[in-house]
Amino acid sequence: MIGPFDGRPSSFAGPIGGLRDVVNEPAGPRPGSLLQALGRAVRNRCPACGTARLFPKFLKPMLVCSACRQDWSAQRADDFPAYVAILLTGHIIVPAVIVVEQFGDPPMWVHLALWLPLATVLMIGLLQPIKGTIIAIQWWFGMHGFRPGSPARREGPPHDGSS
Ligand SMILES: [Zn+2]
Repeated sequence: MIGPFDGRPSSFAGPIGGLRDVVNEPAGPRPGSLLQALGRAVRNRCPACGTARLFPKFLKPMLVCSACRQDWSAQRADDFPAYVAILLTGHIIVPAVIVVEQFGDPPMWVHLALWLPLATVLMIGLLQPIKGTIIAIQWWFGMHGFRPGSPARREGPPHDGSS
């Protein structure tokens, strides 16, 4: 099975210079499965340790985990979370619109009053868990900057992402 701990060097190996000052939480155990890593990411926790918050700000992931020192600056989620959130929102809203249409013919203002707020809430609510999921998938499979030796990997002193 492919995973971040299958003999490949990982960002877990060794302390990162200068980060010891910001490590203030005990790191949890590494995930035993991709599903566990995804569950942590969906709950806004570091997929690697499950302790620190993955997103200190709404859609800005921490650069380095304050608990386990995992480097998250290598993530390349880009616009993909928005595409997935739009896809999921559409697949939730459209069947609901069809069901409402079958139980009557409500006026257009009812549709606008129902679906615009619901779609907005769904989009905003889904974005962070989806982005966390995508970051966890990239990390688990060693994609993009998580690939050992990747030039996209961040160099220099790490940042704890707390600002
Ligand atoms: Zn962590």
